[in-house]
This record gives sequence, structure tokens and C-alpha cells, in this order.
Amino acid sequence: MESELKKGETKGLLEKELQNLIKKQRAAALSEGINIERRMNRIDRVISLLVENSEQIVNALKEDFGHRSPEGSLATDIFGTLSSLKYAKRNLRKWVRPSKRRSLFPLGLFGAKTRIEYQPLGSVGVIVPWNFPFNLAFGPLGSIFSAGNRVIIKPSEFTPSSSDLTKRLVLEYFDEEEISVIIGGPEVGATFCSQPFDHLLFTGSTSVAPSILRSAAENLVPVTLELGGKSPVIVSDTADLKRTAIRIMAGKTLNAGQICLAPDYLLVDKKVSERLIRELKLATKHMFPTMINNPDYSSIINQRHRERLNSLLDDAEGKGAELIELKPKGENFLTEHQGKMPPYLVLSTSGDMAIMTDEIFGPILPVIEYDHIQEAISFINERPRPLGLYFFGSNKMEEEAVVQGTVSGGVAINDVLAHIMQDDAPFGGVGDSGTGSYHGYEGFKNFSHSKTVFTQTPYEFPLKITRPPYGTGIRRFLEIMIRK
Ligand code: NAD
Repeated sequence: MESELKKGETKGLLEKELQNLIKKQRAAALSEGINIERRMNRIDRVISLLVENSEQIVNALKEDFGHRSPEGSLATDIFGTLSSLKYAKRNLRKWVRPSKRRSLFPLGLFGAKTRIEYQPLGSVGVIVPWNFPFNLAFGPLGSIFSAGNRVIIKPSEFTPSSSDLTKRLVLEYFDEEEISVIIGGPEVGATFCSQPFDHLLFTGSTSVAPSILRSAAENLVPVTLELGGKSPVIVSDTADLKRTAIRIMAGKTLNAGQICLAPDYLLVDKKVSERLIRELKLATKHMFPTMINNPDYSSIINQRHRERLNSLLDDAEGKGAELIELKPKGENFLTEHQGKMPPYLVLSTSGDMAIMTDEIFGPILPVIEYDHIQEAISFINERPRPLGLYFFGSNKMEEEAVVQGTVSGGVAINDVLAHIMQDDAPFGGVGDSGTGSYHGYEGFKNFSHSKTVFTQTPYEFPLKITRPPYGTGIRRFLEIMIRK
């Protein structure tokens, strides 16, 4: 009873703190109006925060993961984040400009004017998962800050070192009216997304998303959902198999497969499946001659996730799948692993295996054969809409059939993951993999209110005929206008 009371008190305090912050942030955003220099300065400070503290960031990630490849962290959490921030900074002057639109005929002829003003929404809540703690906390700020908003970030409880560092650095580089950080797990998250934000950006799992939407609905808060799912790879018999295998395995082993966009399962033309499997093995061996003590190969975030991945393998094997472990010769992951898990290919899968229904989020790759491209397309369309979809091949007709015949957040042709790095294009999911997007102009618009501002003609003549008492003028006008 007492602890429940304490829980209630803590929740009450957190609610109060969040509501105060939201109020302050909203007022600050509104009173600043369109101040391009300040928006750029905020993006500049995010860039400085990342560049000046990159070593600390890499170390915090290493601590949280057990081991995380330093080059991998620099590439994904620093470089990948900087690139979209810099792109937003370069373009925000153009994005912010009011957009002139046509006025209803014939009012425009008499001097009426219509424009769209892109107004900040106010205070945006950002909920972050554990797999890229810095990229997913600071990357969205390119879109959020270029649109003139303020932000409150809630990092993941699975990455305590990264979350603490995020909070410390934000305090050093920003005023709380610009960015605040709230630390905590799902309970804090639930309180967080029940607050009257002007927008919520949730990056996380599809299974948690409905509760986020329900909480946000109480305050009619609009939500962007950046979720996960099973991103398929199609390999046509026209693909360059060596190159294809290297690109697939590079994407699958980056962050040990713990990426929302990681290739989740592979659909391969039966004619080339044996050769592809051989190349997948060679590609892995080439990139990782060793794994356990290899700094380039990252660990699984924690014991719970290692157990989850192992149980996916056990379930598949128990239901008749063949497992191919891609571990270097002489390494025994049972006796020593440093939290790492070798990549696996899984053959002879069936639809009732958890590996074919759950997002894998680790270094396991089921391989499924198809006879005709249409079979692969149907396989994908029978399942929830994926975040990413990858096609390898040189047959343009097949490529077009895949692009037009499937619905996914994005597509990469002859690579995996790479579409997220195109800063000029939106990134987001569709259906079960998310709604809304950020990056590029679409990101700016996602976090802006497109406000129509109409200035009426100074002349009475064109308006007078639209008001009672109606005369022949309006009749004639309507007769002309009401037609096909
Ligand atoms: P998660 O959904 O468990 O947690 C994400 C965040 O939500 C964490 O901060 C967590 O504390 C919080 N949270 C959990 N339950 C909550 C609740 N009931 N109310 C409010 N907040 C709650 O996800 P995760 O395990 O941290 O991350 C992995 C998932 O994220 C994968 O599904 C992956 O595909 C997805 N992801 C998506 C993207 C993307 O950009 N689309 C990027 C990275 C990860």
C-alpha cells in the first residue's frame, strides 16, 4: 500500500514536471516565431555535442552493449546522425519560406491572396529505443528543430550509460526550454506519452505502439510511429551473387542484426539458392575471420535478448528447420561469448515458426526459396507491411513488379539499409511498420503545422453577389461554375 502510494506520488511529480516543461517549451517556441538563425544554432549545437563527445559516446555504447564495434558506433550513431542534421541545416531556410497558393477563382483576380505558413507545433516528445540510442534521440532533431520546435527526450532503460550521457550532454549544451531529458523505463514512458505534447515521436516496437496511440489519444496528440517488423530481401537469379551476399551479410551483421531495417528473411530464386548460401558463408568468413574477440563484431544488448534469439532458433529447429551456424573455426560460443552470438542461416522454415512471425532483431537469417518472382511478392503481401524491402537483381521487369506490387516503408535496390542514408528522402514505415516520417523536407513538414493564411480582396464587388439578397449575378456565376 505504502509503495503504491509512493509510486503514485512519483508519477504525480513526473506529470507535473512534464506539464511544466511542455508549457514552457510551447510558449518559448511560439514567442520565438520564425527565427532561422536560432534554429540553425540549435542544430549546430546538436552537431557540436555529437562531434565533441564522440569518444564518450562510443564508450557509453560499448558499456551498454557489453561490446559494440567502435567503427560501427561512429558510423551509425555519429556520422549517420550528423549527416541528416547538416542536411536539415543547409535546407531549412528554403523549407521555412511561406508557400504561395492560388486563391479561389475569381478572388485572386481581385487581389485576394493565399499562402501557407509553416508554424512550429510546440513541444515534441521523443521516445527512444535501445538499439541506436544517440542516432534515434538526436537524429530526429534535424526535422524537429528546423521546424522550430522544442523537445523532451525519453531514452531507453536498456542503455543506462547512453541515457545518462545523453542527459548530461543535453544539460551542458541546451537550455531545458530547448531540450530536456527524462530517464526511465516503460512506466515512465507510459506517463510520458499521456502528457499534452504537441506531437509524439515514438521509435520502438510494433507491439508497444498501440498503447502509445491510446495514451496520446486522450489528449488528441498527433503521433509519428517509427516501428520495426520483418524486412524481406528478394534475390533474383539475375543478381550478382557474390556482391549480393556481401551486401546482405554486411547489413545483417551491423550491430549484430539489431537494426529496425536489418534484412529479416531472405527469399531467393530456387535456381541460385545453393550458390547464394555458399556466398553468404564466404562473405561472413571474409568480414569476420574471428568474432568473439573481434572488435568489429558487436554483442547482443543483454541476456534477455540472447535468450529470446536462442529460443527462436530452438523453436525453428524443433519444427524441422536446418540451422547453419556461421561461426569462425575453433570458436566456442558456449564457453566464452562476451555477449556475442554468431550469425545463423535457417533453412527449411515454415510459417508456424516464431522466426517467420516475430521480428528477429539479431544475426539470424531465414532463407526461403521461390520458383517465380510473383510467389515472392505474394509471400510478402500476405504478411504485415514491412519497414524496408530489398531487391537484388538486374531484371528491370522483376524490379518494377516488386516496387509496384508491394507496400513497404522504403525500398533499396541491390543493397540493404542504404535508403535510410539518403537525407533528401523521407524515412518511415507504413501500416504495422509505422506512420509518418522524418528526414528531408517531409520531416520538416511532419513537425510543422501547415497553416493556411488567406487575405481577402479589398473590393466588395466580387463578394457582394455571394450574399443575400441574391440576384441574377450569383445565379449566372453559379450556372457557369456548376458544370463538369
Ligand atoms: P520498445 O518498444 O520496447 O521500447 C522503445 C521505448 O519505449 C523505450 O524507451 C521504452 O522504455 C519505451 N516503452 C516501452 N513500453 C512503453 C509503454 N508501454 N509506454 C511508453 N513507453 C514505453 O522497443 P525496443 O526494444 O527498445 O526497440 C526495438 C524495437 O524498435 C524494434 O522493434 C525495432 O524494429 C524498433 N526500431 C524502429 C526504428 C525505426 O526507425 N523505425 C529504429 C530503431 C528501432
